[in-house]
Amino acid sequence: MSTFYNDVIQKDPRFESGTRIDDLALLEPKTRQLVQQIIEAAQQMGIDLMVYETYRSQARQEELFDSGATRLRSVGVHTYGLACDIVRAIRGEPSWKGDFSFLGQLAHSSGLIWGGDWGDPDRQHGFVDPVHVQRCTLARQPALFAGTWYPDDAYNPCTDDPHPLFAAATSPAAARSKPAPAAGRKQKS
Ligand SMILES: [Zn+2]
Repeated sequence: MSTFYNDVIQKDPRFESGTRIDDLALLEPKTRQLVQQIIEAAQQMGIDLMVYETYRSQARQEELFDSGATRLRSVGVHTYGLACDIVRAIRGEPSWKGDFSFLGQLAHSSGLIWGGDWGDPDRQHGFVDPVHVQRCTLARQPALFAGTWYPDDAYNPCTDDPHPLFAAATSPAAARSKPAPAAGRKQKS
């Protein structure tokens, strides 16, 4: 499969780098374009942002896992060039302070999943990462990590259908919650 990960990331001399990388060139092109759009939109809202981390090697992922900064042990969505950490820029320095819900709104309207709600604001999440955006749903991550799936340009994680097993598990509940109009009419009469 020819993907940005196979063709560019794996061949980059920084592939096994243990240090933080903030180079946009190591973001998959569509992800890069959306991140740049978000930064421009925030600027128009009067919020200065900066890219803190783009690509992340497996070695660095393991290091961050050990320190508790991530829940993913060996590879993450950053490793595939599909995630970016965007922080506030305060006098040129990165800042994690303040509310990042604006980033969630910008991410959602751009077609990226926000780490503040992982694309599912109705659910309580044990781990939140309000400076993180990614172009992949949580349901797609296993296939991404297995090398069997990579997003094309048209892919939008915000409109991606849930995993078939997830859909099957939730659809009976959805059917039950539908109102029964016949019964309603009967009660009125
Ligand atoms: Zn991140």
